[in-house]
Amino acid sequence: MFKSVMLQPIEVDPWRFCRDGQSWETRSDVAAFPRLAHECTQGTLFCRVVGRVDQRGSLSLQLMVSGEVELPCHRCLVSMPYKVDVERTLYLARNEAEMERLDALPGSDAIQAGETLNLVDLVEDEVLLSLPLATMHAEGECPVPGV
Ligand SMILES: [Zn+2]
Repeated sequence: MFKSVMLQPIEVDPWRFCRDGQSWETRSDVAAFPRLAHECTQGTLFCRVVGRVDQRGSLSLQLMVSGEVELPCHRCLVSMPYKVDVERTLYLARNEAEMERLDALPGSDAIQAGETLNLVDLVEDEVLLSLPLATMHAEGECPVPGV
């Protein structure tokens, strides 16, 4: 089986990343993501993470991941295409209290961030959360007879 090069962790200081308005993007084979490689059989993902500061002075990461991957059908194990389209804004929180406060704001999600954050990990977390629990062909439409 073809084995692609694994993505190296992208460790950043999330606070500086947002304050400086930095961004990171990559276009990678799903096989290059350590955890996604187990879930998806093939596909390419385009990922973009942008740091920003809003009017209230809150720091946030804007995450965009898109692409098409293939997931195995849970019934017949034949791969089926799945469209990944994730767009999230994650506010940085220093502690649990701050996280609760930010999470309570409408349409906002927060993550507790330390000194460093691995962007590859973050992207993987969000994509994994967005994947359906069990991908399946429609009833009676599995291409394998007798399943
Ligand atoms: Zn199937």
